[in-house]
Amino acid sequence: MAEQSKIEFGNKVPLVDSYGRAIKNVRISITDKCNFRCIYCMPAEGLEWLKKDQILTFEEIERLTRLLVRMGIEQVRLTGGEPTVRKDLPLLVKKLSEIEGLKSLSLTTNGYLLKNLAKPLADAGLTRINVSIDSLVRDRFFQLTRRDSLQQVMDGLEELEKHPSITPIKINAVAMKNFTEQEVVGFAHLARRKPYVVRFIEFMPLDADEIWDRDKVLTGDEIRAILEREVMPLELVPSLDPAETSTRYRFIDGVGEMGFINPVSHPFCSACDRIRITAEGMLRTCLFAHIETDLKTVMREGASDEVLEETIRRAVWKKEMKHFINDGEAFKRTKRSMSQIGG
Ligand code: SAM
Ligand code: SF4
Repeated sequence: MAEQSKIEFGNKVPLVDSYGRAIKNVRISITDKCNFRCIYCMPAEGLEWLKKDQILTFEEIERLTRLLVRMGIEQVRLTGGEPTVRKDLPLLVKKLSEIEGLKSLSLTTNGYLLKNLAKPLADAGLTRINVSIDSLVRDRFFQLTRRDSLQQVMDGLEELEKHPSITPIKINAVAMKNFTEQEVVGFAHLARRKPYVVRFIEFMPLDADEIWDRDKVLTGDEIRAILEREVMPLELVPSLDPAETSTRYRFIDGVGEMGFINPVSHPFCSACDRIRITAEGMLRTCLFAHIETDLKTVMREGASDEVLEETIRRAVWKKEMKHFINDGEAFKRTKRSMSQIGG
């Protein structure tokens, strides 16, 4: 670490952890608030929201992003809570998209506000998007999100298609046992009919209501078996990026791609290149971390970029080796839920 922290500011010394993983990817939560109440994430009554002065300002987010890009971060994803509920989101996207050296700027959203935001976001320089949809059936969508909003989300997707500078359009569905099985074929047809890559992500123990247990996880392999049986065989799409979280398959006739993010059944921690910053500026080096580093206070106490950089490097050096979801008693839930981290 001594060597790591002594680098001169501005040097392109890679941002690495003690296991040799280079960090290229940051997910920045820009709000903890949300207009949905997905059962695998938030309680029906919501959570206690942060106050305005507790969350990072656009200037603080821009400063951090600029610094992280100079330290080797290539990809920035804005998330939340629901990032589209943050006022003036396109303004932030514009500021970040102008940062030299940033290769990809993306957004993860529930899609509810996309119909009006797709154009401003495209104009501001957003390059990629993930829209979360767990069901293509109105009442089942309501059952999961506690909001009757499937149509608004689908309208938002249609609008996105008019802005080809935002590509690819990815759809993320959380895969839960005894629910998602009935959605798989519908999503396959959507991926074959539309220019959307559909990805299933295994349910993780990050829900505020703590309903997660292993038996509620529908694994990627189980979903793939359904697709092979009920739609048609799939072939693996080779990936050139070892840090890619999703394993990609395309239907054997070449029409439609499905992805599987399997953090529970096939952990990918050894290739993890991600860090996260929560809405209130806590740096987290793992989704399941128990330790955080308070970057907001460091910035608000007037730290120079050099001090901020050293704080980040020291925290990243201690990035967790792996998650412990599969290690029985060794696994302890983190006190934050997904919406309070930034998925
Ligand atoms: N509100 C936005 C959305 O839903 O896309 C962005 C924030 S949300 C926390 C980010 C992603 O985390 C979404 O794709 C959501 O489905 C996923 N997610 C939330 N809770 C999860 C859980 N317990 N397990 C797996 N994925 C989860
Ligand atoms: Fe909101 Fe996203 Fe969590 Fe659903 S998953 S409650 S949309 S933050």
